[in-house]
Amino acid sequence: MRDFVYTALPGRVVFGTGTLDALPAEAERLGLARLLVLSTPEQQGQGNAVAERLGDRTAAVFAGATMHTPVEVTEEAMAVVRDRAIDGTVAIGGGSTIGLGKAIALRSDLPQIAVPTTYAGSEMTPIIGQTEHGRKTTQRSERVLPETVIYDVDLTTSLPVGLSATSGINAMAHAVEALYAEDRNPIIAIMAEEGIRSLAGALPRIKADPADAGARADALYGAWLCGTCLGAVGMALHHKLCHTLGGSFDLPHAQTHTIVLPHAVAYNAAAAPVAMTAIARALGAASAAQGLYDLAQALETPLALQDLGMPEDGIDRAADLAVENPYWNPRKLEHGAIRELIARAWTGERPAN
Ligand code: NAD
Repeated sequence: MRDFVYTALPGRVVFGTGTLDALPAEAERLGLARLLVLSTPEQQGQGNAVAERLGDRTAAVFAGATMHTPVEVTEEAMAVVRDRAIDGTVAIGGGSTIGLGKAIALRSDLPQIAVPTTYAGSEMTPIIGQTEHGRKTTQRSERVLPETVIYDVDLTTSLPVGLSATSGINAMAHAVEALYAEDRNPIIAIMAEEGIRSLAGALPRIKADPADAGARADALYGAWLCGTCLGAVGMALHHKLCHTLGGSFDLPHAQTHTIVLPHAVAYNAAAAPVAMTAIARALGAASAAQGLYDLAQALETPLALQDLGMPEDGIDRAADLAVENPYWNPRKLEHGAIRELIARAWTGERPAN
């Protein structure tokens, strides 16, 4: 076994069905009495329901969360924090809403309760991305790690099948890259393989029946494990590419991850054989890259970046950006091969063997 360093992150997880019932008790446990409830405009109904459930502990609702955590939106929410003497936040939603809770915590150190309703995994990470003047920057700080996470399977049944599939594969990408991370370790490898297995088994069942409670529970459990992987170790080519593509061409987050993942895995396959064996085993497939592509195809997710609106002349630009600032990856960053990877992802063909 290779030597390793493992840092466990603090955090309390309440997982199950109907667990939102535990919210008032969890708020009390943290000593919070003037909570700000956060949601997107689309999930304002759920935000209001949470506020009602918290009763006197709700001081305000802010339903302005949006993609990429724009600083202007955070400033608006911070004004509410100051005006209403807020002592903690409850974020109900996906990565965008949880990102707003983190942005508030970064500025105020207020305790956070996260109630995730997608599989993105942000609630388990000390990572925050923020956008200012059109530029998204990412930083790590334990200040932004939520104190308590309530996973309630019931809240995920409304996640549409398409978003369930792409959000689930987005989660799997965290576990995939954790298996070949520079700072990988055996504890995270166990979580990563189990996370991939759990999601790969659940997503086709969700497609067949979005109300399948068992499948929804398996997917959310897998998403938790995959989020933990993202929070614990560094990522590589796949995440870098998705960040670049998303930022440069304004592509949707989860779909971009879904399309790029099989190709990034194929690129790294020969350089990370142990990880590939674990991924393939978790997928029940002969090949990690082909297995991921087959899964996406079976789930009928978008397979081509061109279908997300990326222009063809963006392929060269993305390849240039991907090798511009060197970062760790199991295989050396080779401009030509990366360009080919992006070109395949753009047309939607199978990943290279
Ligand atoms: P999202 O939070 O943007 O949600 C997408 C849409 O789906 C929103 O309109 C939302 O209101 C809606 N939605 C969410 N849950 C729903 C449900 N159960 N039913 C119906 N509608 C629902 O999408 P996301 O993929 O969860 O998050 C993406 C964002 O999170 C990106 O900005 C990404 O960078 C960030 N992220 C950050 C980290 C991190 O560690 N910092 C990790 C993962 C993702």
